[in-house]
Amino acid sequence: MTTKTFERGDHVQVKGFPGVAFWFVGYAERRVLDPWDPLQDTYDIDHSTAVVRAVGDDLDREIDMDRLEPLDRDAFCGGCGQIGCGHG
Ligand SMILES: [Zn+2]
Repeated sequence: MTTKTFERGDHVQVKGFPGVAFWFVGYAERRVLDPWDPLQDTYDIDHSTAVVRAVGDDLDREIDMDRLEPLDRDAFCGGCGQIGCGHG
Protein backbone atom coordinates (compact mmCIF):
# COMPACT_ATOMS: atom_id res chain seq x y z
CA MET A 1 0.00 0.00 0.00
CA THR A 2 1.15 3.47 -0.75
CA THR A 3 0.88 6.33 1.68
CA LYS A 4 1.03 8.98 -1.01
CA THR A 5 -2.14 10.95 -1.40
CA PHE A 6 -3.01 13.55 -3.98
CA GLU A 7 -5.89 15.94 -4.41
CA ARG A 8 -7.60 16.61 -7.71
CA GLY A 9 -5.62 19.28 -9.51
CA ASP A 10 -2.29 18.51 -7.84
CA HIS A 11 0.61 18.53 -10.25
CA VAL A 12 2.61 15.33 -10.48
CA GLN A 13 5.30 13.71 -12.53
CA VAL A 14 5.12 10.12 -13.65
CA LYS A 15 7.93 7.59 -13.82
CA GLY A 16 8.36 6.59 -17.45
CA PHE A 17 7.29 10.02 -18.75
CA PRO A 18 10.40 12.12 -18.11
CA GLY A 19 10.04 15.85 -18.58
CA VAL A 20 6.27 15.84 -18.75
CA ALA A 21 4.10 17.50 -16.11
CA PHE A 22 0.80 15.84 -15.31
CA TRP A 23 -2.05 16.75 -13.02
CA PHE A 24 -3.96 14.41 -10.82
CA VAL A 25 -7.53 13.90 -11.97
CA GLY A 26 -8.60 11.30 -9.41
CA TYR A 27 -8.49 7.66 -8.54
CA ALA A 28 -9.55 5.01 -11.00
CA GLU A 29 -13.05 3.66 -10.66
CA ARG A 30 -13.81 0.00 -11.20
CA ARG A 31 -17.28 -1.04 -12.18
CA VAL A 32 -18.37 -3.91 -9.95
CA LEU A 33 -21.32 -6.12 -10.56
CA ASP A 34 -23.67 -6.49 -7.66
CA PRO A 35 -24.81 -10.15 -7.68
CA TRP A 36 -27.95 -9.17 -5.81
CA ASP A 37 -28.88 -6.43 -8.21
CA PRO A 38 -27.26 -6.93 -11.64
CA LEU A 39 -28.97 -3.88 -13.08
CA GLN A 40 -27.35 -1.62 -10.54
CA ASP A 41 -23.98 -0.21 -11.55
CA THR A 42 -21.74 0.28 -8.60
CA TYR A 43 -18.21 1.57 -8.65
CA ASP A 44 -15.29 0.87 -6.39
CA ILE A 45 -12.56 3.43 -6.08
CA ASP A 46 -9.19 1.85 -6.84
CA HIS A 47 -6.80 3.74 -4.59
CA SER A 48 -3.77 2.03 -6.13
CA THR A 49 -4.42 3.48 -9.58
CA ALA A 50 -4.44 7.16 -10.43
CA VAL A 51 -6.04 8.90 -13.36
CA VAL A 52 -3.70 11.63 -14.60
CA ARG A 53 -3.67 14.01 -17.52
CA ALA A 54 -0.66 15.66 -19.09
CA VAL A 55 -0.64 19.44 -18.75
CA GLY A 56 -2.04 20.85 -21.99
CA ASP A 57 -3.50 17.49 -22.99
CA ASP A 58 -7.02 16.15 -22.68
CA LEU A 59 -6.21 12.43 -22.54
CA ASP A 60 -6.72 10.58 -19.28
CA ARG A 61 -4.20 7.90 -18.42
CA GLU A 62 -4.38 5.32 -15.67
CA ILE A 63 -1.09 5.07 -13.82
CA ASP A 64 -0.04 3.04 -10.79
CA MET A 65 0.13 5.31 -7.76
CA ASP A 66 3.67 4.01 -7.15
CA ARG A 67 4.79 5.85 -10.28
CA LEU A 68 3.52 9.29 -9.23
CA GLU A 69 5.73 11.89 -7.62
CA PRO A 70 4.63 15.31 -6.41
CA LEU A 71 5.64 18.21 -8.62
CA ASP A 72 5.98 21.86 -7.64
CA ARG A 73 3.88 24.26 -9.65
CA ASP A 74 6.96 26.29 -10.56
CA ALA A 75 8.95 23.22 -11.70
CA PHE A 76 7.37 23.14 -15.14
CA CYS A 77 6.28 25.45 -17.94
CA GLY A 78 2.65 26.58 -17.77
CA GLY A 79 2.67 27.05 -21.53
CA CYS A 80 3.71 23.66 -22.85
CA GLY A 81 3.72 21.55 -19.69
CA GLN A 82 7.35 20.53 -20.00
CA ILE A 83 9.58 20.23 -16.96
CA GLY A 84 12.66 22.36 -17.42
CA CYS A 85 11.33 24.41 -20.33
CA GLY A 86 12.93 27.81 -20.65
CA HIS A 87 9.75 29.77 -21.31
CA GLY A 88 9.23 30.28 -17.60
ZN1 LIG B 1 7.27 25.84 -22.49
